[in-house]
Amino acid sequence: MTKIMIVEDEVGLVTLLKYNLEKQGYDTCVAMDGKDVLAMAATENPDLILLDWMLPNVSGIDLCREIRRSYELRNIPIIMLTARGDEADKIKGLSYGADDYMTKPYSIPELMARIVALLRRVVPVQKTESLTFADMTMDFAKRRVTRSNKPIHLGPTEFRLLQILMQKPGQVFSREQLLKEVWGDSIHVELRTVDVHIRRLRRALNEYNDPELIRTVRSAGYALDSSENNDHE
Ligand code: CA
Repeated sequence: MTKIMIVEDEVGLVTLLKYNLEKQGYDTCVAMDGKDVLAMAATENPDLILLDWMLPNVSGIDLCREIRRSYELRNIPIIMLTARGDEADKIKGLSYGADDYMTKPYSIPELMARIVALLRRVVPVQKTESLTFADMTMDFAKRRVTRSNKPIHLGPTEFRLLQILMQKPGQVFSREQLLKEVWGDSIHVELRTVDVHIRRLRRALNEYNDPELIRTVRSAGYALDSSENNDHE
C-alpha cells in the first residue's frame, strides 16, 4: 500500500488531507511538528511526503534540505504545500529539494492528480540494470548515481531527469520534451521548473568540480555532452 506522510500543523488541513488520501486508497501518517519529521520518515518509510512550509520548530524548507541530504530518505518525493505564493518562494522550494509545489488554498483534486503524477515519475521504467556515460553510472536497483565512483546525491526528480538524458546521450531534449517525460501530461508545470531542476542536477553532478556534462543548447534545450567545448550556461 502506498503511504503518504502528511506534515502539517493545522488540524483542519490534516483532517481534510487524511480523509481525501484515505478515500483514494492511500495509507497515511501525520507529523504536526517539524522536529518529529525526520525520525518519523525513517520509521514509517513513506512513498511521498506532503510538506508544509511554515511549521513549528523546524521549517519545511529546512526539512526539505535535510531529507535530500539523508542517505536513507533522499529518494522520497516531496510536494511542498504553502501559503507562500510568489514565484521566488516557489523557485526556492524547488531548489531546496521539493519535487512539486502547491499554494494554499489548493484544490484537492489537483493535489491528488499531482500525487499520482509524482508517484508515477519516481518509479523507474527501465529494463537495464544500469546506464553509464563518461565517468557517471546510474544503478537502478540501488537507485544510486556515482561519478568517478563517488556517490552523487539526487532527489527523485533529478534522478528521473538524468535517466532521460542518459538514455540518449548527445540528443538535445527541449524543455517541453523533458516536462512531458518527467512530469507527464496530466498536470500543468511551468517550463521554468525544468530549468530549476536541471540546475539542481548540475550542481549535484559537479559537486567535486568535475567537468560539466549537461550542455545547454540555446533556445533548444539540454543534452548530455562530455566534449571539451561544453557551454556552461
Ligand atoms: Ca503551517
